[in-house]
Amino acid sequence: MININKLWENVLQKISSKILAISYEVWIEVLEPVCIYNNKLVLCAPSKTAKSCVVKNYSKTINVAISEVNSTITDNIIIEASEKEDYLNKQEVFLCDQIVIQEDIEKEDTFANFTKKFSFDTFIIGKSNEFACAAAKAVSESPGSAYNPLFIYGGVGLGKTHIIHSIGNYIKKNSPHLKVMYITSETFTNEFVDSIRNSAKSPSSTQNFREKYRKVDVLMIDDIQFFAGKSGVQESIFHTFNDLYQNGKQIIFTSDRLPKEIKPLEERLRTRFEWGLIADIQSPDLETRIAILKKKAEQNNAVICNEVIEFIAKKVETNIREMEGLLNKIIFYSSLVGKSATIPIAMEALKDFIDIKEDSAITPQDIIDYTCNYFSISLESIIGKKKTKDIVVPRQIAIYLITDLLSVPLASIGEIFGGRDHTTIIHARDKISNEIKINTKIKVAVSDLKNMIYHR
Ligand code: ADP
Ligand code: MG
Repeated sequence: MININKLWENVLQKISSKILAISYEVWIEVLEPVCIYNNKLVLCAPSKTAKSCVVKNYSKTINVAISEVNSTITDNIIIEASEKEDYLNKQEVFLCDQIVIQEDIEKEDTFANFTKKFSFDTFIIGKSNEFACAAAKAVSESPGSAYNPLFIYGGVGLGKTHIIHSIGNYIKKNSPHLKVMYITSETFTNEFVDSIRNSAKSPSSTQNFREKYRKVDVLMIDDIQFFAGKSGVQESIFHTFNDLYQNGKQIIFTSDRLPKEIKPLEERLRTRFEWGLIADIQSPDLETRIAILKKKAEQNNAVICNEVIEFIAKKVETNIREMEGLLNKIIFYSSLVGKSATIPIAMEALKDFIDIKEDSAITPQDIIDYTCNYFSISLESIIGKKKTKDIVVPRQIAIYLITDLLSVPLASIGEIFGGRDHTTIIHARDKISNEIKINTKIKVAVSDLKNMIYHR
């Protein structure tokens, strides 16, 4: 008998390499396999609109993928939730199949609920995350003995979940005998509350809850800052931790803040969080953000020019999820209008999401004007040949700001500044970026100018 969920999983894998990742996530991944009726795979769409879009645009792709996985199935039928009951009644035999599958899913959910696209291969390493990533790899290779517990902390959207899913995927592949469990602190809390609530009806429910988390080899709890102030759950975590730790099992936590900043948190739990290794993830620098975007574009099978990648990387500095969101919007929009993702297309795609109105776009001229005003020097002198300090420093600052805030080719900046060579531009840019670190006057001037330019 065909296991319909397994079949659909395989079909999904085939489809994912055939279409844009964003379309896959929006239209295909959300379909639910219902049954097989008259040798056709019945899939339920989440809404009427979704149904008609899938029928119109993806039916053929789905069929090609199905035929690659199972040649006995000849077609697909896309339905809405209201039609589901009908199809299930028509084919009783598949109801039985689904009962078996439900058990399968439960088993898999418990031990291997990892997102495939979150792996070490797809994780870009930069200064901001290299320590956390190295620690995660060490733990993946020898769970329970490298660092225990491993505590990863960092701001929202910086890759904590990606890293621990990578650990899960790695262990699942390389040490398949180990039982790895991933859970968010919210789910853990809900299960804990349910187990207590149900204990009147079913006395074994608290016992089951306890056992579930103590029979694993690796326990990962994501976003533990949610445990703040929940004393019952904290107590439960404390005992689970002790049991696992004493038995040499690996424990991994993530949080958006350090243990000492999670308040209120039981002291004995805080010290345990700090027992092993604490690894932080910081905001990535521009270079890393660019590398991440390139990787994401590649994963989406999308060709995006460097200018657009840089444009996005400069727009969002502290949240990779947000940055990825902008990239996806551009990819989606450019495929919708059938044009390649250039700067004008990117602007168009993002016009409702970020502040990039044409009339407010910053130009090199704006930056030069503001710099001249700030230092009370003339336009002729800033672009001229004079080499006195009172002119050279503002000139270098203006050049630095143009390279930092805009995506203008170096040669063009050279042109703007009276036909200077691009090496002169690089020298000016690097000079100021070093000076900012050691010279307070220059640091203040650059920051003042940025403020003025942004808040025109
Ligand atoms: P967090 O759990 O810290 O809030 P996530 O792990 O959910 O953040 O990451 C948000 C998004 O950013 C994910 O799509 C993830 O793949 C991506 N991401 C974060 N860091 C990296 C990185 N170094 N390389 C590639 N993708 C990354
Ligand atoms: Mg997360």
